[in-house]
Amino acid sequence: MAAFTRIPPGNEFSVSATLYVTYLKCPQQALARLRGTYPITTKAMFRGSLAHRIFARHLVDGPVPSDTFASVCREETGAHLAGSMASLSLKYSEFTRIVAEVEELYERFKALPAVGLVDVEVDIEAALVEGVTLRGRMDAVFSDDQGVRIVDWKTGSNLDDAEHQLAFYAMAWRLAEGALPTTMEAVSLKTGERRVSAPSDGEADETEADVVAMISHVRTAMASNAELPRSAGPHCQWCPLRGDCAEGRSALEILF
Ligand code: SF4
Repeated sequence: MAAFTRIPPGNEFSVSATLYVTYLKCPQQALARLRGTYPITTKAMFRGSLAHRIFARHLVDGPVPSDTFASVCREETGAHLAGSMASLSLKYSEFTRIVAEVEELYERFKALPAVGLVDVEVDIEAALVEGVTLRGRMDAVFSDDQGVRIVDWKTGSNLDDAEHQLAFYAMAWRLAEGALPTTMEAVSLKTGERRVSAPSDGEADETEADVVAMISHVRTAMASNAELPRSAGPHCQWCPLRGDCAEGRSALEILF
C-alpha cells in the first residue's frame, strides 16, 4: 500500500512503535521527538529498562540467583543504563529500592513459560517509504508448530498502549519478514493481565496506512516549520512540552 500512497519527499527519519503510539496520543509531542525533544527519564522508565535487561539475561544465560541479584543489577546498569542512572542522580537508597522492585517483577517473570524461545530483544528494520525506516525492538520471539509469537513484557500495570504497539510490530514484521506473526501478546508483570491477538492482513494494512498518513503529516510540518494538533490527556504529565502548552497544563490541572 505504501508504495502507491502519495507522500511528500522530505526529512529522513525512523519510525518506532514509541513514535507511532505517541503520535496517536498527541501529534505535536511526536513531532517534538523528531525535532530532538524527548521526555525526561523517570524512575519508572529506569526500573522497566533494568527489569528487561534482567529478563534478557535470564533467557540467554540462565536464572539470576537471589544472592547475586543486586550485583547483577549493578553490572547491567553499568553496561547498559549508565546514562539513565546519571540523568536521574539516583541515591543509593533509591537504587536499592528499584532493585527490590525489579526482583519482585523477576520472580513473576520466572513463572512464564519459555518453551519455543527463538531470541530476546529482537530488532527489526524495514523500509516503508523512501527515506523512512520502521524500527522495532521486540522483547521476545517464540516459534512452534503454531507459528511465530511475539511477546512484549510490561513492567507497569497499564496495557492501554499495547494494542497499537503490537499492531505496529506486526505490520513491521510483515514488511521485514514477508508474513505476519501468528500471535501477538502483551503481559503485565505487575498485574498478570495479558492481551493476546492474532493479527490479520487487513489490520496490518490499516496500521500501515495510519503510519503512512503520520509520515505525510510530519513531513509537511517539518518542511514548513509548522506545528501539529495537540491532544491533551494523562500522557501530558510526561511530555517535555507541557510547560509551554496551554492544552497540557489545563488537562493536568483537572487530572491532578
Ligand atoms: S503537553 Fe499534552 S497536549 Fe501539549 S504537546 Fe504535550 S502531550 Fe500534547
